[in-house]
Amino acid sequence: MISGWWGRLRQRSEQRALQRRAIPEPIWALTLARYPFLARRGAADLSELRRLASLFLDRKEFSGAHGLQVSDDMAVAIAAQACLPVLRLGLQAFDGFVGIVVHPDEVRVKREVMDEDGLVHEYDDVLSGEAMEGGPVMLSWRDVHEAGESAAWGYNVVVHEFAHVLDMGDGLADGIPPLPTPAARVRWHTVLMREYEGFCDRVDQGDDTVLDPYGAESPEEFFAVASEAFFVAPAELRDEHASLYALLAGYYRQDPAAQ
Ligand SMILES: [Zn+2]
Repeated sequence: MISGWWGRLRQRSEQRALQRRAIPEPIWALTLARYPFLARRGAADLSELRRLASLFLDRKEFSGAHGLQVSDDMAVAIAAQACLPVLRLGLQAFDGFVGIVVHPDEVRVKREVMDEDGLVHEYDDVLSGEAMEGGPVMLSWRDVHEAGESAAWGYNVVVHEFAHVLDMGDGLADGIPPLPTPAARVRWHTVLMREYEGFCDRVDQGDDTVLDPYGAESPEEFFAVASEAFFVAPAELRDEHASLYALLAGYYRQDPAAQ
């Protein structure tokens, strides 16, 4: 609800941002053609998504790594996918960070873990994206670009990383985003953990799952992986994880399987 002088001021500054960052029709059409999971949304959703994407472009700073130039259509592709999860929640859910770093491809990083005896082991990790509290969000352009095709197996790097951003909205990466009441938090924990443990068992048994087996890593990865499928392969997620789907539908205030 916008009221009073502060509301009017904010409305005016939003209007200016929307004009400044209006997404040209050919770029918007290209984005929808690339990502059918966006294009199948109804007209009202698409117009709100386009509005949020403009504001997102105005508030965030994109930079390319390793000489990559982030073109307008690349930035719009990222903005549109990032705003899908917050279509009803609003952009303020992303206020905690500004920078988005786009790499040409996956990034290889060195990691260290200490074992029980205090010995440090080094290993290589390959990242298609990364979100950390306060930012920046890192994304591999190759993965962003291929998101239209990879939706078939429920994979979407942008939704994954921005689900982590939402999860960290209360300062903790634990698979539980900020929720309105303590009771909602308890319920979330109950449903998420039940679904997570069942999923881990199935992954251990080598079952074919709608969700990426990477979700068995931890509850926070499970939430991010489930959010990917929720937005790009919703009917498949609903068929395999009905109560998880309902939990996410309540949180995101969206029912993408119905569209
Ligand atoms: Zn993750």
